[in-house]
Amino acid sequence: MQEYRLLIDGQWVESTSGQWFESEEPFSGHVWARVARGNAEDVERAVEAAHRAFTEGPWASMTATERGAILRKLAGLIEENAEKIGRVEQRDNGKLITEVAGQARGVAQWFYYYAGLADKVMGHVVPMPKPGVVNLVKYEPLGVVAAITPWNSPLSLTAWKVAPALAAGNTVVIKPSEFTSASILEFAGLCDEAGLPPGVVNVVTGFGAEVGAPLVAHKKVAKVAFTGGDVAGQKVNEIAAADFKKVTLELGGKSPNIIFDDANLDQAIKGTIAGIFGATGQTCMAGSRLLLQDTIHDAFVAQLIETVKQARIGDPLNPETQIGPVATRPQFEKILSYIDIAKAEGARCVLGGEALTGPQYGQGQFVAPTIFVDVKNHMRIAQEEVFGPVLSVIRFTDEDDAVRIANDVEFGLAAGVWTRDLDRAMSVADRVQAGTVWVNNYRATSFATPFGGFKRSGIGREGGTEAIKEYLQPKSIWITTKPNRANPFVLG
Ligand code: NAD
Repeated sequence: MQEYRLLIDGQWVESTSGQWFESEEPFSGHVWARVARGNAEDVERAVEAAHRAFTEGPWASMTATERGAILRKLAGLIEENAEKIGRVEQRDNGKLITEVAGQARGVAQWFYYYAGLADKVMGHVVPMPKPGVVNLVKYEPLGVVAAITPWNSPLSLTAWKVAPALAAGNTVVIKPSEFTSASILEFAGLCDEAGLPPGVVNVVTGFGAEVGAPLVAHKKVAKVAFTGGDVAGQKVNEIAAADFKKVTLELGGKSPNIIFDDANLDQAIKGTIAGIFGATGQTCMAGSRLLLQDTIHDAFVAQLIETVKQARIGDPLNPETQIGPVATRPQFEKILSYIDIAKAEGARCVLGGEALTGPQYGQGQFVAPTIFVDVKNHMRIAQEEVFGPVLSVIRFTDEDDAVRIANDVEFGLAAGVWTRDLDRAMSVADRVQAGTVWVNNYRATSFATPFGGFKRSGIGREGGTEAIKEYLQPKSIWITTKPNRANPFVLG
């Protein structure tokens, strides 16, 4: 069995309590690793180490170009180790092997991008409405950043935070999900090899209440970058607010995928499937509400059912598999409970609607791809995040109706629009309240563009040049070039 320890101040250490927790493969149920169970004392050690590294260590005196060079080396190491890291992550969260290796290579791209950006953060000289002064604005790092991540795309969502945070000159303490710590510890092992000084990247594994909460509350943490559910996100936001810490919160979604009758319907079917059944529906950006124009509703649903029925469901290690297991037992139970809720609310199940059992489904943590029609937008199945392969189909009449339904939800993470009419595509993209809008595609992401939520889907953005600003603060410097202070008792 594999053993994973905490990384604090460049050392692999056991937790102060000496306790461990186990990690299980979702498909087989096989316990494959034990991981150090951190606590508040370990958080204290890690934050102190990160704070020292920020204020005193070689990291603090490095130039941005030197930081970029180290991050570039780290990106190369991630690329070289992508297969291995992907396989480790796959064991933890049961994702398709075909998806995780690509995701691990994508992590390297995030580090390359922010390595390049490190020495391109520029301040400016402000034209002042006062004589005899020059004003400079420069951007400084914040200090210790806490990065707290979920289980669905553990290393990617860690990279989304750590790459810009380090490029900006901060230090980090990472708290991975208790279900998926291993790939993050494998990544952390590469940091030393890349030349990051001890204490710049620390990892404390463990549970939300035991590690996450004391980390967020720690006085020396300057910023919390959190991805997870809106319930935990709200708690994190409240605790961080007590000390006026900065936050980025990447939370849940209930994203509309809107299909007009003039769309390329074959492509729209593929986009619908990628949106809700890709990654077994366990993605924040899942297109879980399918808004279908009345005129194509029945034919589209019939074709969708026929296509989804062909899905190859089973062992995620088989490269032919298209839908894998649910990552955790609590999540499996949550999905099934939402299926019951939808049925009780009067939604009509036209595909799936049950757990799958049989030898091809391993230990039995599979939910059949499920489609509900006759869904009304006020129903819980249309309003609450399921985080599983469950699609709610809602009818609309015209553009106004589609936009009204799309926006009638507390979340605002993403949306899809399918139409051949460019005017309509742009109009809907403007009117939909979402941080990302895909026109004639769904679930595309890149390091090069900002990602994040409107409304209850979060605060701040990850990705693109916007993200590095989330880890910097402006400082305004006044320089007197011609002394002119006539009266020292009034503002100059
Ligand atoms: P979760 O909220 O249960 O946990 C996320 C992380 O927060 C874990 O590391 C957990 O241990 C920690 N945590 C829990 N309670 C905490 C507390 N009180 N203080 C500090 N840390 C705490 O979420 P999950 O089940 O791991 O992940 C699924 C959720 O993540 C979904 O809601 C999904 O939409 C969201 N998500 C969002 C995005 C995005 O970019 N918007 C991406 C992926 C996942």
